Amino acid sequence: MKFIDEYRDPELAQEYAQAIARLTTRPWTLMEICGGQTHAIVKYGLDELLPREITLVHGPGCPVCVTPVELIDQALAIAARPEVIFCSFGDMLRVPGTARDLFMVKASGGDVRIVYSPLDCLKLAQANPDKQVVFFAVGFETTAPANAMAVYQAAQQGIENFSVLVSHVLVPPAMEALLSSPACRVQGFLAAGHVCTVMGYSEYEPLAVHYNVPIVVTGFEPLDILQGVLMCVRQLEEGRAAVENQYARSVRRDGNVPAQQIIQEVFRIVPRKWRGIGEIPQSGLGLTERYAAFDAGVRFGVADYTAAEDSECISGLVLQGIQKPHECPAFGARCTPERPLGAPMVSNEGACAAYYRYRRLQAAVGAQAR
Ligand code: SF4
Repeated sequence: MKFIDEYRDPELAQEYAQAIARLTTRPWTLMEICGGQTHAIVKYGLDELLPREITLVHGPGCPVCVTPVELIDQALAIAARPEVIFCSFGDMLRVPGTARDLFMVKASGGDVRIVYSPLDCLKLAQANPDKQVVFFAVGFETTAPANAMAVYQAAQQGIENFSVLVSHVLVPPAMEALLSSPACRVQGFLAAGHVCTVMGYSEYEPLAVHYNVPIVVTGFEPLDILQGVLMCVRQLEEGRAAVENQYARSVRRDGNVPAQQIIQEVFRIVPRKWRGIGEIPQSGLGLTERYAAFDAGVRFGVADYTAAEDSECISGLVLQGIQKPHECPAFGARCTPERPLGAPMVSNEGACAAYYRYRRLQAAVGAQAR
């Protein structure tokens, strides 16, 4: 298959692994930021190809996983209202709030729908003028342009029965929060290629300099990831800390400028709470004053909700690369995709879901051996 098979060639993968092994003279810990990269690493066993000195830890790059419990509770309260059609991407429906999830609201009569684009919600709003259509706008910089465009078009077209519950988060402030922590053991980053497709990578350059940490913009196929590791290890072994671009077939330094412009038109940078991590300054997007009328949290009076997280779920430690999913006492026992305690077990990009899908038996054998 053109443009896929060539990035999954097993012989080339072995060559990359051997090149990494030849370069490596001491232990290094690298973090892949994106949950899509985590799934590729676990699915293809890429970490097992690497020399034992290289440790890959998984980062906070799953937007569903980092959405805080109170935002889920806000979504549940809005979705339960009889006048609302609540729209979301599919993997948000199983994410637990304090007492239930969106599937349960749907099962008890709420009009909860899965959409594939926020622009579908505008058509839904036009077709249902007696209803309020609400979109759960979750994601990193990657989904922000389409979500911003939906709000922009709603304003342009005077669609007043549409609003968004915004839970957008930004990658560079999260990386900075990780690097500032005394618990941080990350020495190099594989930055998320699709985020950089939108935003470019110039905003990573001050981080690389200030924290003396190599950052390699990396794609999602097995050879992308192995090449990203190779580039990162080469910098570490040479004592360099720069931003390099492995994913040059998709990413330019300045990113996608029109996409950035629509984000800036509709959103402003705000502090944002991350599940399991807490509030990170300047790490989220909220609506600007001009589009404040489209804020579902305000429209439905739920914006000031607060909620405590499940104390048994250690997702904060997993999302910061401090522990791995199978090290969680609840993994595969009290927490499964059917009965999740935390979002990383249900999201398509969640690290716990990846370990459960591809490493469950290995983890169980390891636990018995301990
Ligand atoms: S296994 Fe479940 S309880 Fe443990 S960190 Fe992952 S989501 Fe949370």
